[in-house]
Formats: sequence, C-alpha cells, structure tokens
Amino acid sequence: MQPAILTLNAGSSTVKYGLFARDGVTELARGTLEQTGAAAMAKALEVTRDAKVQVVGVGHRVVHGGPRYAAPALIDEVVVEALRSFIPLAPLHQPHNVAGIEAARAAFSAVPQVACFDTAFHRGHALVEEAYALPRRFFDEGVRSFGFHGLSYQFIAGRLSDVAPEVPRGRVVVAHLGSGASMCAMVGGRSVATSMGFSTLDGIPMGTRTGSLDPGVLLYLLDHHKLSLKDVETLLYKESGLKGLSGVSNDMRTLLASDAPHAKEAVEYFVHHCARMVASLATAAQGLDALVFTAGIGERSAVVRARIVAKLGWLGLAVDAAANERNATVISTPASRAKVLVVPTNEERCIAEAVAAQLG
Ligand code: ADP
Repeated sequence: MQPAILTLNAGSSTVKYGLFARDGVTELARGTLEQTGAAAMAKALEVTRDAKVQVVGVGHRVVHGGPRYAAPALIDEVVVEALRSFIPLAPLHQPHNVAGIEAARAAFSAVPQVACFDTAFHRGHALVEEAYALPRRFFDEGVRSFGFHGLSYQFIAGRLSDVAPEVPRGRVVVAHLGSGASMCAMVGGRSVATSMGFSTLDGIPMGTRTGSLDPGVLLYLLDHHKLSLKDVETLLYKESGLKGLSGVSNDMRTLLASDAPHAKEAVEYFVHHCARMVASLATAAQGLDALVFTAGIGERSAVVRARIVAKLGWLGLAVDAAANERNATVISTPASRAKVLVVPTNEERCIAEAVAAQLG
C-alpha cells in the first residue's frame, strides 16, 4: 500500500480532509466528512482504505498556537494541553480542533501527528504590530494581535519564488480574500504585519464578519441595546460584513450579480477597505514590490481585483484587463509600479509539507 499523509481541518459539524503522497506535495484526494469526532475518524479510515493508502502521518489545522508556537509542533500530551489552554483565545474554533486531534490520535495511534497553526507564520512581529494600546498587563496575559490565515500565507510565500523569482526577497502584500478575509505584509518571505488581530474579526470586511469596528460601537450595543455576550458574538461573526451591509447575501458572486442598491454598496465597501488595507500594510512593509491575490474572491473575481487595484492607481499600480480576465498569474501591466499576481492558495498542502518535513 502506498504511504500517505492525511490532513484534517476539524470544524463544528464537518471535518475537511486531504490525502497526499509521502512527499507532502502530490495530492491524492480531498473532501469533507459530514461528521465529527470518532465518527469522522471511522469515515476517514474508510476513505484511506478505499484510496488503498497507508497513513504514515497526520497533520491538523489548528487555529491558535498562542504566543508560543511559531512553527508546526509534533503532537504529544504536552502539546494537546497547551492547545487546550488556548481555547479562551479562540473559543469558536479551538475546541473543535482539539477534539479532532484527540479523535485522530485514537484512530491513528501508531503514526506521528503534527499541529499546524494559523497564527504561527505571524509570530515575531515587532511590538508596534503585536501590541494594542491597552495597559501592559493585558499584553502579558495574551491580549495581542496574533493574525490568522498563516498556512495560506506560508504556502503563498513558498510559491512566489516559482511564479516571480525576484518578488520573494521584496515587500509583498498578500490579500487572502475568501469568505474569511485578511491581508499580510511580508518582507523577504516573512510576515511583518497582518490585518487580523486578536481574533478573526479584525481588518477587512468579510462574508459575515465586520472587519475593523470602533470598539465604541460595542459599548453602545451593550449599553443601549442591552445585547448579551452571545448576541454580540453572533452579530459580529455571523450577521455582519457583506451579509449585514447588503441584506442580500454573504456570497460575493451573488452580490456581484445583484442589482439591489445595498448589494452594490456592500461590494463597494469591501473594495474600498481592501484598497485602504493594502496601502496601510505597504507602510508596514516600507514599500510594495508585489500585491498577490488569493482565495475564492482573490483567485476568481477579476472585477473585484480590478476595482481594488484601480483605487491603488495613485500608487502607480495598474492591471492588464485581458490578463486579469483570464486569471493569469501576472495581471499587472509592464508599467505598473508593483507586480500584481494571482496565486491559488493550498492550506492542506502547507500542512502536508509540514508533516513530510517531520517524517524526514
Ligand atoms: P472559504 O473561506 O470558505 O474557504 P473561499 O476561499 O472558497 O472561502 O471563498 C468564498 C468566496 O469566494 C465567496 O464569497 C464566493 O462568492 C467567492 N467567489 C468564488 N468564486 C467567485 C467568482 N467567480 N467571482 C466572485 N466571487 C467568487
């Protein structure tokens, strides 16, 4: 039987999986298991049997690695305990990730398992990026900007040397525009700043999440509307962003196809704040040699890319309409002051590569 690496991304009601060859590069299969916990692992064992592979390593996507983990970690009891201690930092996702790890350790007990963190790629930021202007004791207890989507950014950082050899050494802003959305400023392939912070709410607007919001609004909601903690959480994570602003949909495709004025305004809000964030992150990187679009919207929506770059025209950025239309890798004009690229992301492969590295 062919040796294989299994990647797992455990959510609240499903587990996304990937199967890769031992090299961590060649993808054999991927899919979604409509269960969680032990039931999902029974299904995963079935999948591996059907694929006629023998799992030699398992990699887990874990949303939070806290202040500690700056790289993937080989899972043992100590690591599981540490991951549990980060649950207060990501109460919506971390419990599912930890439960997924426990189920997989029971089902695939003989093989090494590796935790790969969405936060790890952003560790090592300067204090001016990592801290909030709160009293220091909050920073010390872990109230910091952690940043997320790190597996995506790390994958893109690795791809850049293939698609644009001179770019990885330079100053790059990567725009991961999916239903969750964030941006990352990189210098020499390392993250120096990112738009998400302590939680996955901050930064640019998303399908159902607010993006940056004046904390005074929260005070008003709590005081004036007497919202409960749960109500506020639901409002900020599930009812806001494109969905809240448009009143039509959280889905960019639906909004682009809609004639409803509020749908158009929601798209314009998204485009406007994406462009502002690129300029802000370019300041953190002290320049901009390339802007990279990735994830659902970034990889597939020529019109959203064109509109974001148009707002960055004052910086000298320009898109070639034909190249943009066909989702080419390089979509900037030769005269553009910075390259504009479209690079598909692959978080599962980033996890598989980490497992392959662990296996040696
Ligand atoms: P997730 O964060 O759930 O993995 P994706 O990266 O798949 O999300 O991105 C989902 C978003 O991408 C949705 O808003 C969807 O409408 C948008 N999208 C996908 N294809 C297109 C397209 N051709 N044009 C515009 N938006 C698209």
